[in-house]
Amino acid sequence: MSVSQTYSLLSDRINALSESQTLAMSRKARELGAQGVQVINLSIGEPDFQTPAHIKEAAKQAIDEGFSWYTPVPGYADLRGVIADKLRRENHLDWKAENIVVSTGAKQSLANVILSLVNPGDEVIIFSPYWVSYSEIVKLAEGVTVLLEGSFENGFKATAQQLENAITPRTKLVMYSSPCNPTGAVFSKEELTAIAGVVARHENIFVLADEIYEYIRFHDDYFSIGSLDYLRDRVITVNGFSKGFAMTGWRVGYIAAAKWIADACDKIQGQVTSGTCSISQRAAVVAYTDMAPTRAMAEAYRRRRDLVVALVSDIPGVKTYVPDGAFYLFPDIRYYLGKTDGKTTLHTAEDLCLWLLSEAHVSLVTGEAFGAPECIRISFAASEENLKEAIRRVKETLTKLH
Ligand code: PMP
Ligand code: GLU
Repeated sequence: MSVSQTYSLLSDRINALSESQTLAMSRKARELGAQGVQVINLSIGEPDFQTPAHIKEAAKQAIDEGFSWYTPVPGYADLRGVIADKLRRENHLDWKAENIVVSTGAKQSLANVILSLVNPGDEVIIFSPYWVSYSEIVKLAEGVTVLLEGSFENGFKATAQQLENAITPRTKLVMYSSPCNPTGAVFSKEELTAIAGVVARHENIFVLADEIYEYIRFHDDYFSIGSLDYLRDRVITVNGFSKGFAMTGWRVGYIAAAKWIADACDKIQGQVTSGTCSISQRAAVVAYTDMAPTRAMAEAYRRRRDLVVALVSDIPGVKTYVPDGAFYLFPDIRYYLGKTDGKTTLHTAEDLCLWLLSEAHVSLVTGEAFGAPECIRISFAASEENLKEAIRRVKETLTKLH
């Protein structure tokens, strides 16, 4: 069968969906690597650290003790309890175990919530730049994405006033990540309180707060919007173990929300995936008992952030800023758009990323995928040695453009 024939046999839903650009660039890097090219992969946002030893030990024990059965759909009761305690202690969110649904990663948690709340035609306001999968999951739910662009000058953060102006009778959900993927911006208590004030004035609008990078931030203050009493029942907090505990492959994420929303997520999950891996849950349940490895990783990311900011600031024409969290730099590269090396003209940030992959063997992600076509994303979840070499190659390769 030809490609176009198979395309027409697929559902409209899947044909409308874009491939995840973070995963696509990473795949391209791997393919080039398999041909023997020394590619430095700064495209995927994935901790390069090992999962802490106490977590691995718990998993080994779970295997030996025979934890090999289907798990309760929303997660083991003790894990849900531990998560509720953590949220109360650290985030001032007043939820019980019954409000927590553990999923196969924060990505599934986001999909559960969006599919539970969004009807076809409902508007979902996404603070932009935003993580690639947000708009695609909204598409799957047949919702309408409304992007609120944060300006470079405001640290890429959308404001309460912008939100007020964007709300319509069809608005159902407002979503953002803090620390933000891809910009590293962290919303302050004042900013989130102002945003909460806007949401509170409109009935039946919900907030999806993605806090997956909570432990990777470079300042002490952290504020969870769900801790505001008056908005408690309208905030769904998403978090997980992937980033803070270097557990991307273990697939454990969760939501904390009003029980009727948690029950809806449980229902979807019960039909689509069932509960996440039993061994991973036994591992996650001990994660918070020793936070020293998490703190050490955050400290390493801070050093890398300083290194990458210094190196990238030294590239002519590139405008950057200092991220407060996560492990990404999102510099403005528009200076290079329209330039050529004599063979290839770079019209878009995607052209630039593909060109840098083939010429410098460094894999990055285009800002287009995150709603900012004048930027590129550099993940600094890599060794200092690789970061230095990658940015040296990028800087040198860019000199070929005129
Ligand atoms: N939200 C954001 C902002 C992310 O960057 C990621 C990373 N993939 C996720 C959610 C999903 O995390 P997980 O690996 O737990 O599915
Ligand atoms: N969150 C990571 C990223 O943005 C992981 C890849 C993905 O799931 O998209 O690169």
